[in-house]
Amino acid sequence: MDSEEASPDVVLIIPPPEASARLEDLGEHLGSAYMAAVLRQRGHRVTIIDALAEGLSSRATLERVEAEARPLHRKSIRGIDVRGRGAVAESKKEEGDRFPFARPRLVLGISIPFSNMIRPAISIARALRALFGKEALLTMGGHIPTLAPDHIFKDCPQIDFIVSGEGEFTLLEILEKIKAGRDWRDTPGVVLSNSPRTSVPRPNRAECGLSGESGAGTFVPRPLISSLDDLPFPARDTLPAYQRRKAIPRMLGSRGCYGNCSFCSVNAFYRSAPGPRWRGRSPQSIAEEMERLSKDYGVREVMFSDDNFIGPGKMGKERAVAVAEEIMRRSIQMRFSIACRANDIDRETFTVLKKAGLKGVFLGIESGVQRALDSFNKGVTVEDNRRAALLIRELGLDLILGFIMFDPDTTLEEILENLQFLRSIGIGASTIFNRIGALNRLDAYEGTPMAERLREEGRLQGDYTGYRYRMRDPRAEFVYRTGLLAYKIHKAIKSLF
Ligand code: SF4
Repeated sequence: MDSEEASPDVVLIIPPPEASARLEDLGEHLGSAYMAAVLRQRGHRVTIIDALAEGLSSRATLERVEAEARPLHRKSIRGIDVRGRGAVAESKKEEGDRFPFARPRLVLGISIPFSNMIRPAISIARALRALFGKEALLTMGGHIPTLAPDHIFKDCPQIDFIVSGEGEFTLLEILEKIKAGRDWRDTPGVVLSNSPRTSVPRPNRAECGLSGESGAGTFVPRPLISSLDDLPFPARDTLPAYQRRKAIPRMLGSRGCYGNCSFCSVNAFYRSAPGPRWRGRSPQSIAEEMERLSKDYGVREVMFSDDNFIGPGKMGKERAVAVAEEIMRRSIQMRFSIACRANDIDRETFTVLKKAGLKGVFLGIESGVQRALDSFNKGVTVEDNRRAALLIRELGLDLILGFIMFDPDTTLEEILENLQFLRSIGIGASTIFNRIGALNRLDAYEGTPMAERLREEGRLQGDYTGYRYRMRDPRAEFVYRTGLLAYKIHKAIKSLF
């Protein structure tokens, strides 16, 4: 074996979203923050460049990466087409000899958590390859590359590999292997374009009422991290930038969700690797991080970005109460909000959480129509949703609804049923239009059972960057399109005044 080498520098890049995104909707990218913390804990040099936090365009993002790695690159950013066209031809020439190479001096990791970041991420990756040539290993990770690796490789052959699933220990293992002069390509969690391991296991289709092959390939996934308490607290490099922009700081008290919703990319993401799909941090660890945020950054309110703050069953509720009790025991004065499912809501648990500082609840009820809930595989009834929403309001907590007014099978009658349901839980017309999104339409994400079903039915149009479908009921489709047009006209008129 070769003698030990210096490990490469790591730059983690969060690209700008394609369309204008509201900062408060996205907030800190905790995936990169955890990645940086884990790598730094083992002595690796890591920089996070978050285009959203810094308000960077694709070109400005590229310039920031160039500045970070100035001693390494041999080419100038001038002449690099940031839209990626020039870069494609240039990097194609290099493709043959750049891979595999054992000693990259730089690892560039691009995260794609949302579909509106796919195109900017690909453009940046192409330009980075042209800029750094063989000096850098180029990788992508996050929900989209995990669920659509073949699409990503096809559209962006410039990348060397994809980190599938939870990436912290995959990238760490790669860096350690590079440092030791070892081949890293068999690392669990690594998806290569030129091996048979390019397809990730699909979500469990049988559970979602789908037939046929699972589509599982030979990819070897890395098991989900079993003990979140073993992770260091996330690196807060980008928090000051978000604070300057008045975004509420984020925390993760758990990962994953025990639900099994057919449209949900969270569900599909965590099903792509073995291990319990919901894992919670201990109350002590959560409270300690809150104290640290308060002391180091003056934080008085956090938003838990957990997919589902409340874990499964009795254990999940007891743990939530234990978190609340730990916050109170330490006299932490911090308000917080969480997301959960309707069946997680009960008076006892949420009364204690409120006493500890709970301010608002994002409740993913999705629909007031039982047919829709069943087709989403939501595992709750309309009555569960109604009871949960009314209880949250009764407890005086902010209620933020996750609601899907239009799905592939919505009928005109169901639109009315949904509106009646919203009225029955005290939601007025202005809230429906301004906060719930009267025009919310189900997105079919690659890798989800819903997208698979629509594909099987021949209804899926477009590509993985944003699939489209027509609703089965043309009257519902008409209502949606008319509403969208009215909304656009309203927005255009408003912008004139
Ligand atoms: S409850 Fe929410 S996070 Fe969980 S699987 Fe369903 S949609 Fe996804």
